[in-house]
Amino acid sequence: MKLILLGAPGAGKGTQAEILSDRLGIPTISTGNILRAAVKNGTPTGLKAKAFMDAGQLVPDEVIIGIISERLQEDDCKGGYILDGVPRTIAQAEALEKAGIAFDAVVSIEISDETIMERMGGRRVCESCGASYHVVAVPPKQEGVCDRCGGKLVQRKDDAPETVKSRLDVYHQETEPLKAFYDKRGLLKTAENQGAVEATTAAILKVLGA
Ligand code: AMP
Repeated sequence: MKLILLGAPGAGKGTQAEILSDRLGIPTISTGNILRAAVKNGTPTGLKAKAFMDAGQLVPDEVIIGIISERLQEDDCKGGYILDGVPRTIAQAEALEKAGIAFDAVVSIEISDETIMERMGGRRVCESCGASYHVVAVPPKQEGVCDRCGGKLVQRKDDAPETVKSRLDVYHQETEPLKAFYDKRGLLKTAENQGAVEATTAAILKVLGA
């Protein structure tokens, strides 16, 4: 199964991608996680990406296309994968199409901007493995510590309210047109974020017929 998760920042893509990844036995590829690791390790890609990320802007398409083409060639992608946070522009979607990748479905997780603004302050991510948490909705077993790897949970710099606002604007301008792009290809399915994580997973599995 090759799946794309679309949705605004904070719609729950990362959390749902991890759950679906376990259920379906396929890896999640998150360009956000790959970029955050690159920034942390000070790689040339990380150095290029950092200013865009801190400002809530998109990293240039050619950087993303390079990252994703390399990642999808790794062995664990042979049986399928879930893309979380990519494609984010029509140019990225066209590049995936040009690479001959046929997706089974594109699920857009729907949520209002107001709800996102309310929830983002509680989001935490593991600085080691990238797993997502929320202090109220998805708390870790031990405060500040990742259930999966024991890493430290931190607040993302780009989760500051002004940056979230820019990221939402970028989403509506650059990424939301992908819904029409994939709808034309008969691939688009939409699932409402239900508030509770399990209920949202159920809504996604329902539209996937899984
Ligand atoms: P995310 O974790 O998906 O919210 O991504 C965090 C940040 O990384 C975004 O705000 C962008 O600056 C950058 N980023 C991640 N994925 C992409 C992408 N597919 N295209 C452009 N920029 C991206």
